[in-house]
Amino acid sequence: MKRDRTIGLEPRDGFDVGRDPQSMSADELEQLGHARVSPLRALRLKCLDCCNGSAQEVRLCRAVDCPGWPFRMGSSPWRRMLDQEERAALLARLAPNDASEPTTARKTGGEIDTSPSDGVRVPGDAPAKSSLTERGDDAGSVA
Ligand code: SF4
Repeated sequence: MKRDRTIGLEPRDGFDVGRDPQSMSADELEQLGHARVSPLRALRLKCLDCCNGSAQEVRLCRAVDCPGWPFRMGSSPWRRMLDQEERAALLARLAPNDASEPTTARKTGGEIDTSPSDGVRVPGDAPAKSSLTERGDDAGSVA
């Protein structure tokens, strides 16, 4: 089926240029053949497109200076566990200047126990190891 590409274009200075996707509806994007995918999935799909659909060629890609290269396997290498020092530095950076001990109300009825050595813990559970990492919006490795 041939798609009407003009939905994604707008006139500017006598030329057709790409529209800002933020100004487009989900229907318009879908009419262009786009699906609701995470940015990581989109990068993976771009790499597969670049390598004629070969996951093996994506894996072997030597274009190490390509902006998509670190993400070509469908996950972010930047999303990893922080060590204790990195967590402390991040917490210090994120904490408001007037940070104070949480009040009883903020602890939501005592559900949350703060440990002076490790930070926030939920009773009965192991320490939350990924609480300071980037939210994972990738679905892991694909294709
Ligand atoms: S990382 Fe490699 S496979 Fe992916 S877009 Fe860049 S050159 Fe193509």
